[in-house]
Amino acid sequence: MLFRGGVALELPLARSAVDRDYLARTRPELFDELWSEPTTRVLALFEGSVLLEAQSLKLLPVESVPSANYRVYLGRDSVGPIVLAVLNENAAKQLEPSAENWHHLRKTGAGLDDRDAGLFVQALALANWHANHQHCPRCGTPTLVEAGGWVRRCFKDDSEHYPRTDPAVIVAIVDEQDRILLGSQGAWENNRWSILAGFVEPGESLEAAVIREMFEEAGVVVDEPNYLGSQSWPFPYSLMLGFVARAKTTELRPDGEEIEKLRWFSREELAAEAPNLLLPNRISIARAIIELWFGGELVSALEQR
Ligand SMILES: [Zn+2]
Repeated sequence: MLFRGGVALELPLARSAVDRDYLARTRPELFDELWSEPTTRVLALFEGSVLLEAQSLKLLPVESVPSANYRVYLGRDSVGPIVLAVLNENAAKQLEPSAENWHHLRKTGAGLDDRDAGLFVQALALANWHANHQHCPRCGTPTLVEAGGWVRRCFKDDSEHYPRTDPAVIVAIVDEQDRILLGSQGAWENNRWSILAGFVEPGESLEAAVIREMFEEAGVVVDEPNYLGSQSWPFPYSLMLGFVARAKTTELRPDGEEIEKLRWFSREELAAEAPNLLLPNRISIARAIIELWFGGELVSALEQR
């Protein structure tokens, strides 16, 4: 392991406290059964946002939720079943007219407890998949939601389509002097820095993706990819797999398309400059890995806004 210190990687979106109860998904009368259970509660989602009550997700009684575009059975907590209801604009306004009371994961994720962080991530990844898979990829026919919301079926050719998760590697490159490589994308706000990431390509191992992506984006040859941990990143439905890798070369060559600027940071430099930099959001694995390398919490310009 290239990191000193033995600090554990803490990932805000890798938490869960819900039994997904997957065997129940295929029961033909599932939603009728759930509606008749007095402990069933509904998580309403509208355009990627949810309602909160104090610091928790607002889970609603079945009868108070207007009709949904579709529903997904998320599973059970210690109280009972939880169902996701994805609402259209009219239903969302009927439930809660004030737009400011609908909250996004990027703003609220780190403050939620384990159950709620897991539920929000699960709900968002599923809803984003549904939004992008309304038609059969084989014949273009509109698909039907089945199996408690976990399958979309084409009634024309009877093909079944399952929720997808797209793997991406995210990598702390560390050099011989124990400096970390951060990059800044042209599309980002000025002075926003993060470690580098990229999608795994078909037929590729995670390790090969680390080596290829880091060379493509930064021109740096890396070896020894070491796996650190993973968390869901439901924008729209990625899984981020965190690595640390050793730089064999230190000359930097930003790809100019995605990455505009690259820079090696020592711990002293990052500690001194962080208050003026925009580091990744606290819910991201990027932030957790940068702080793991640093050996403690950093306060960036993002937290001072
Ligand atoms: Zn089809």
